[in-house]
Amino acid sequence: MLEPQNQWIEGNTVNMPASSHFRLCEFIDVIGQRCARRALEANPRCIHHFEHKDQVSPPINYLHALQDLLNEGDGTWRGFIFPRDFLLKSITTATVIDARGSKWPGSFEISGCSFEGSIDLTGGVIGSTFRVTASTFIKGLTAQQFNFQGDVWWTSEVTGDADFSWSVFAARADFSGTFTGPASFQRCSFGDVTRFTGSWHAAFTPGGPPRLDEPCELFKCGATFEGVDFKRPDRVTFINVDLTQVRMSDADFTGVSFVGVRWPRIGTRRGLFDEIWARGAGIAPELWLPRLESSYRNIRVAIEATKDFNTASDFYVGEMEARRNRLGWWRAHIFSIPAAYRILSGYGCDPTRAFLALLLFCLFYGIYWGVATYGFGTFLPTLNTIRLSIRQTVFIFPVLRPEVGVEEIRGWAMVIGSLLRIAILTQLALFILSLRGRIKRG
Ligand SMILES: [Zn+2]
Repeated sequence: MLEPQNQWIEGNTVNMPASSHFRLCEFIDVIGQRCARRALEANPRCIHHFEHKDQVSPPINYLHALQDLLNEGDGTWRGFIFPRDFLLKSITTATVIDARGSKWPGSFEISGCSFEGSIDLTGGVIGSTFRVTASTFIKGLTAQQFNFQGDVWWTSEVTGDADFSWSVFAARADFSGTFTGPASFQRCSFGDVTRFTGSWHAAFTPGGPPRLDEPCELFKCGATFEGVDFKRPDRVTFINVDLTQVRMSDADFTGVSFVGVRWPRIGTRRGLFDEIWARGAGIAPELWLPRLESSYRNIRVAIEATKDFNTASDFYVGEMEARRNRLGWWRAHIFSIPAAYRILSGYGCDPTRAFLALLLFCLFYGIYWGVATYGFGTFLPTLNTIRLSIRQTVFIFPVLRPEVGVEEIRGWAMVIGSLLRIAILTQLALFILSLRGRIKRG
């Protein structure tokens, strides 16, 4: 139990002897503990748990009262009710602050502060704007299930973990600055304009002009947006954010804008960190592949809307890969439409692959035609027959049927020839589609 505090009385630090008038605050906090501070004269609560601080007589300098707690290293701030429109400015403290279930009835601003102990604001409410500028949270910040009723403006650095999971951002949310540790926005709800912005660090050299140096891409150690709910996705933007270690599954990003973001590389394509993460964690594929496919799909749609068709193509490949990998080995690799689509054209996204497959089919056709027309023995050694084969293959494009020797080819040989011609035409279509896919996807 803490000793009753009386230093909050402005300009007066009288030691109170135990007397019959001595009452403890009646407040019981979120973990069922009773407040150990002294109640106000005419109120059953202490100054920290009393809502109408402006009505206290004599008037209290509340910041003073808070500063006293910090000086004593008393960070038990659960259920505090802060004054309306409260500002914390230029405070450096090593106190571990547990302010779970606290309330800020008006706005709350933290400016130029440095917190060397961890801060826990879980389950709190801020009634109006929350602004955090030029501050540092060295041991991290937890604000789970927080209710941000007003705008949130965040330009600060969190060196430890930043955990906003299950929080509600009812109005505008604007995050820039740096999250040096992992950040969690898991299952958060964003109600209006939402912006995550990476910027550039200005490096100052003494006496010289500032140089724009190191790219600061917001999430230096990854983040998670799993299960996030954007109520107005058309108002959500990620600008210059490093998404190479950001998880985005179980959420709908359709309509969200991605501008200048950095995606992780999976082989030669851009993809989602969720894929790398799930593989690394060794989770059973049937659990994450369907979710991965859905994530690739909704993020691809979002990227297409910004006309970045190259990245959209890569995400389409990711989507198809997730679908194909859900099949058994033989079907995944050879005997299925996704497998064939992949082999023949890289899911309609790889023109080089489609062109090589087209050449291969033409070569088969040339050999087929030569053998069918001249017989196996005669065909192979003669340069002239090879020339005829090439000519024959080239000519099937405009006329769809063999120009020479059609009368001699009968039975199964004719069927094989027809199938090869269909294959060549189909492959030609795939090649054109894959070229178009690199430019625009319908
Ligand atoms: Zn109290």
